[in-house]
Amino acid sequence: MFLLPDYRVRQRDFLLEITRAMTSQLDLGEVLRLILRASVSMLAGEVGLMALREGEDGALRVRALIGAAPEDVAVFTPLLTGVTDSGEGIVIADFEAKLRRVAERLQLPLRQMIALPMMLGQEFVGVIYVFRSFTAATTLNDRRVLQSFADQAAIAVHNARLYQAVNQERQRLARILENSADGVMILDGGRTIQTFNKAIARMTGWTPDHVVGKPYDAVIRWAGRPQGKDLVEAMQAGWPWPSANRASETLYVEGDLLRADGTALGVGMTYAPLIDSEGRLINIIINVRDISHFREAQKMKSTFISVISHELKTPVALIKGYAETLLREDAKWDEQVVRNGLQVIGEEADRLTELIENLLAASKLQAEGMALKYEEVMLDELAHAVVERFRTQTDKHQFVVEFPRDFPSVPGDASRLRQVIDNLVSNAVKYSPRGGEVRISGTYTPGEVRIAVQDQGVGIPQEEWERIFDRFYRVDDALTRKTQGTGLGLYLARAVVEAHGGKIGVHSVPGQGSTFYFTIPRRQVYQHQEKDRSAT
Ligand code: ADP
Repeated sequence: MFLLPDYRVRQRDFLLEITRAMTSQLDLGEVLRLILRASVSMLAGEVGLMALREGEDGALRVRALIGAAPEDVAVFTPLLTGVTDSGEGIVIADFEAKLRRVAERLQLPLRQMIALPMMLGQEFVGVIYVFRSFTAATTLNDRRVLQSFADQAAIAVHNARLYQAVNQERQRLARILENSADGVMILDGGRTIQTFNKAIARMTGWTPDHVVGKPYDAVIRWAGRPQGKDLVEAMQAGWPWPSANRASETLYVEGDLLRADGTALGVGMTYAPLIDSEGRLINIIINVRDISHFREAQKMKSTFISVISHELKTPVALIKGYAETLLREDAKWDEQVVRNGLQVIGEEADRLTELIENLLAASKLQAEGMALKYEEVMLDELAHAVVERFRTQTDKHQFVVEFPRDFPSVPGDASRLRQVIDNLVSNAVKYSPRGGEVRISGTYTPGEVRIAVQDQGVGIPQEEWERIFDRFYRVDDALTRKTQGTGLGLYLARAVVEAHGGKIGVHSVPGQGSTFYFTIPRRQVYQHQEKDRSAT
């Protein structure tokens, strides 16, 4: 008689403990062990085992064991195979023999086993086994108790799986965000930075550690006024506007963002609000895109157009002018005038051809990189040939070509290397308007040859030494403005030299002259070609 109340009390205590465990975010293993302990205890069992169906095959795997050493887990394996849920209870194939074998191997007097399915709705998620050292009819009450524990266990498993799924999804999203090529920043409703991904860290120079938890307004600052309403301004004006049309709620701003080092970066930012069902602003998701390349491309395009129109117009105007003059029916030109005129036409046509070739080469280079036709090249011979051509064009300059007698040949693309020397000599002449000496010399080491082109011209200030090799770049001075050119010569020269695996550079003393040099390896270098140098 006294057993009954005690039994009820313990059952209630256990259920309470289990519920508490389940709501206190204990890990699944602990909750399952607790439920198993309760089941074993309520049924006066000796050993308890809980197995869950896991993995793709849905095979039962032991998740909790009490009353036996953990090493003995394998002993129970036979009881986990051939298990079905009949709807009336668990059916295990060849059950009696399996139980005897388990008892023998554990050396425990296990006489009876009660197995209860853990069900989640219709889904069979696992089994609780309780082994007893005595045989007793299981009462309806026993079954009810055990069932209530099994139900709790099923719910715990279900919760854990949900939690895991949510967690996995969260991690997946976090990883996508983290590795997105666009900068992503997430703010809470009060504009505090919560997330700051790699891309935006790279763009701004701030690390997430530094900015997460800080107010957006303190971190994002613009150099000058951005185009469009900045977030702060927009929010003061009531953004996100309560509108039926959610799509129109995003904001877009373009401007120069101040970076950690004080420099500015051209960016476009899109702000999207995340609003809960009650209309409260939960998050602001900000997408940041570096638009400096885009801007540079725009600038490049307009430079290109102005350079080209200027450079094309001059020779065309000269050609047309001379042709028209010579064609005039009312005039008779003596032979010398005709010759001069035709010579100018010829030279200007050459210049046009060169210009067009340079342009084609530059756009081809940008589109497909540079393919070289390798052969053995004698750079000293090329230098002599180039100089011969220039000698006829100027009498203010003296040319000196200086190569050692045993100057070696190099593997390279002869016509492109000739272009390089041609460009350097042409510049040496163009940028020494008062004349002087132009000296082309060659030296070599076991690894490479080195060609230098030295002039006594206007020179180049040091801060320009790098940039003059950029596409369309020309030094902004009076002489350059007067002198014809596109700013493509050195860009192409650098591309050719680098495609050969060499280097190009300049030293100069403004007012005294410049020395351009390049090296070419004596052994062919195979290297990956950059497709586009336009980023420079
Ligand atoms: P371009 O001569 O058509 O302008 P380049 O790419 O050959 O273009 O040269 C770029 C700029 O570098 C020139 O505009 C000029 O300002 C400067 N430059 C090149 N060579 C010399 C030189 N030998 N002496 C002084 N300035 C030079």
